[in-house]
Amino acid sequence: MNVLIKNATLVNADTSERADLLTRDGIIERIAPNIELPDDSSVEIINAAGHYVIPGGVDVHTHLNIDVGIAQSCDDFYSGTVSAACGGTTTIVDHMGFGPAGCSLHHQLERYHEFARDKAVIDYSFHGTIQHIDDSILEEMESMVLEEGISSFKLYLTYGYKLDDSEVLAALERLNQLNALTCVHPENDGAIRFLKEKILSQGSNAPIYHALSRPPECEAEAVGRMINLATLAGDAPIYIVHLSNGIGLEYIRQAHQRGQAVFAETCPQYLSLDINKYNSSSNEGGASDHPYDEGLKYIMSPPLRDNYHQNQLWQGVMDGTISTVATDHCAFTMAQKHAGRDGFQYCPNGIPGVENRVPLLFSEGVMKDRISINHYVELVSTRPAQLFGLYPRKGLIAEGADADLVIIDPEREVTLSQRLMHGRSDYCPYEGMRLQGYPVITISRGEIIVRDGHFTGTPGHGEFIYRKPLDEGFRYWSK
Ligand SMILES: [Zn+2]
Repeated sequence: MNVLIKNATLVNADTSERADLLTRDGIIERIAPNIELPDDSSVEIINAAGHYVIPGGVDVHTHLNIDVGIAQSCDDFYSGTVSAACGGTTTIVDHMGFGPAGCSLHHQLERYHEFARDKAVIDYSFHGTIQHIDDSILEEMESMVLEEGISSFKLYLTYGYKLDDSEVLAALERLNQLNALTCVHPENDGAIRFLKEKILSQGSNAPIYHALSRPPECEAEAVGRMINLATLAGDAPIYIVHLSNGIGLEYIRQAHQRGQAVFAETCPQYLSLDINKYNSSSNEGGASDHPYDEGLKYIMSPPLRDNYHQNQLWQGVMDGTISTVATDHCAFTMAQKHAGRDGFQYCPNGIPGVENRVPLLFSEGVMKDRISINHYVELVSTRPAQLFGLYPRKGLIAEGADADLVIIDPEREVTLSQRLMHGRSDYCPYEGMRLQGYPVITISRGEIIVRDGHFTGTPGHGEFIYRKPLDEGFRYWSK
């Protein structure tokens, strides 16, 4: 089925235009002021007057099907991508989880291809995950980039498979040679271990202590370290995932002033939820019977911060210091989260959110006049597509691009609630939040896969997208 969208406002990262748009065979075939077709054509016509049409959301930070050691996340590549689609996201780039100690990069890639094939309802790719460094891993990176289309990799400065500084330098230098983007989870492992042991030895194990054991300085220190290591590695471009604090943001701003290619991602949870969530009471709906339950919902790393940091992050979004908004979707059920009733250290880290990003940023950003509609499209679709080798096929409304489109009705009011969500987690972190504007139709490569919150797509429709290496224009900083 091909689609003709009439009377829409088509929004890109740099322009908005009133036009009609026709798809054919999954591609945007034509954009013109007025497209008329013969009555008998097999094209579905959508009148989008008063609505925005944006390039489908590109969420470059999800964890579907991930095994975090103490639990297996509850969304797989079917439920996770259905949830994404219902929230206006048409492409995800998933961060592959750790494999067995010493495993190759290809080992995880093969597993993830199996996880996603026949299940994904929207297009997808994966970031490589570096869990150790040796000659064979450094060698293997080349075929990952050039043959497998995996042009970005993530390394961790904390958790069991953290890299030390010499390993980080080796990875940065090699990936820079290959024009691949290095993503980093920046938290100071030693500082967190010290604080956590001290806090636990005092008998403090409620959810709030999760946040207090990894304060903003732990994250900021690691952001600063990465910025310096990237310079030492020959000006390697880096991408900071899930930035949650204003101190690290300041370091990134300074790097930009020197022209350094440091790209930062933040997430809706850091822009709209705060540290008080860890102290909330558990009587909501009467469903919980433990005082920690409400706080456990929000256990993630980095943790939620206070209002100061939240305001700083908004400032960073508005002034362009922050390049993208992604979700870090890593969903668990409350039954899984209950492991943290015995102490925050036992609670699996992560929250659902892949369905909330596009609507939430529209409402909180565009409708509250913090960002323009074009800047919004840049943050949720265009810039992530550009940084991760998907552009101009994704992240752009233009003839010849994939017909991945989302129609947003700015008049639609929605109160976010678990009842409306499509993932497998049994809670919504944004329960009760009122949004102005919501996606009403999601189109993936020309197929209408969501109408008014009802999923109409098919498992296996999603395709693996071979990603190109980092574009030359992103080897230095410019807005
Ligand atoms: Zn993550």
